[in-house]
Amino acid sequence: MKKLAILGATGSIGASTLSICRLQPELYDIVLLSAATSVDKMLLLCHEFTPQYVSMSCPVATKLLRKKLAISRIKTQVINDEASLLALLASKEIDSVMAAIVGGSGLRTALAAVEAGKEIFLANKEALVMSGQFFIDAIQNSGAKLWPVDSEHNAIFQAISPSLQNSIGYCDLAAEGVLKILLTGSGGPFLNLPISQFSLISPEQALKHPNWSMGKKISIDSATMMNKGLEFIEAKWLFNAQNDQIQVIIHPQSVIHSMVQYKDGSVIAQMGEPDMRVPISYVMGGKKRIESGVEPLNFFSCADFSFTQPDYNRYPCLKLAIEACYQGQQSTIILNAVNEVAVNAFLKQQIKFPQIAQLIEKVLSTSLTTLVESIDHLFSIDIEAKQKAQQIIKRDLVC
Ligand code: NAD
Ligand code: MG
Repeated sequence: MKKLAILGATGSIGASTLSICRLQPELYDIVLLSAATSVDKMLLLCHEFTPQYVSMSCPVATKLLRKKLAISRIKTQVINDEASLLALLASKEIDSVMAAIVGGSGLRTALAAVEAGKEIFLANKEALVMSGQFFIDAIQNSGAKLWPVDSEHNAIFQAISPSLQNSIGYCDLAAEGVLKILLTGSGGPFLNLPISQFSLISPEQALKHPNWSMGKKISIDSATMMNKGLEFIEAKWLFNAQNDQIQVIIHPQSVIHSMVQYKDGSVIAQMGEPDMRVPISYVMGGKKRIESGVEPLNFFSCADFSFTQPDYNRYPCLKLAIEACYQGQQSTIILNAVNEVAVNAFLKQQIKFPQIAQLIEKVLSTSLTTLVESIDHLFSIDIEAKQKAQQIIKRDLVC
């Protein structure tokens, strides 16, 4: 049995991961569960899975959970601080890590697991978008095994040769005959809404994804298609792809989860229900086809497939992300940082939907270029970009 840590255990990916653990209890021993603030959800998980350790990033939640665990006489140890969490992740007590924290706050833990050479199931795309080359270098140096969980990257992973699969982060696509990675996206809930109505979009409307059920941040990112932009950057790093080796295609039905186009004219696609238990079971089963609890795809009830090019007037965030990918690491850090602030502000109704892209563009265009020298430098760029974004919201944008 492998010893598993699930970071972001109370979220949407966390829930899908735990459902695979329920179906395949012989595969993983759940040693650590982590989350931010959801004490009651975590308490229920401790009742069910009795992990050895639990960690909450919020100090108030940590205290409360400790109290509730004691009342319930559950022996799970509550980790107090980030340093102890990072040390545990790097220790022999953990073999495999599901990195499913949302946003840049998942970077340090994901990186700690990578540096310690663990097996990483990577859902937290923001960590890779922020750290790029540092993350890939850490994989190469430590020999960590990285498995893409994001459905598109998992689909691509399933459609490439074992030699590419075994060199994630530094593979040579062209040498294996790959022409292009075709990254599909549904276009989100506003694919057909007149752009003139975008400023009236409410958080509730933006949270309603037509095909997928996900956490709040990724749902808003899907509505702006920033999610596909982050995935473009994620694909660049995972598959060592040049920008012209990745193409975004709108496929509103979300049945094809991405494709790989080869120089002999073949295209290999991975298909299935839009359900994260499919890619999660694939990585947790180590490429074996194990039970995921997902219904087989019924082709007779699938709508016709369609494919279109994304319209950058409708999805300016996608354009900004692809441009940032061309520009380099500092731009992708800023893009991600400001997007996190903008999504929160939109959810709190402080800014309007089109202002998400405007805010990102403004901070990107007013930042001086610098080479990212270290992880600490990376975080200083992240913090500065977030502060700048907050100032602009207060000064110019609040609805
Ligand atoms: P979510 O909001 O449902 O869950 C996020 C989890 O992270 C929660 O457990 C929360 O407690 C925890 N968390 C938040 N901040 C934290 C912090 N500072 N420290 C520790 N834990 C913290 O999000 P989600 O939809 O499950 O997405 C998680 C990640 O997976 C994101 O990066 C997302 O882009 C990626 N992803 C999600 C899906 C999906 O279908 N939900 C698909 C592909 C990729
Ligand atoms: Mg995805």
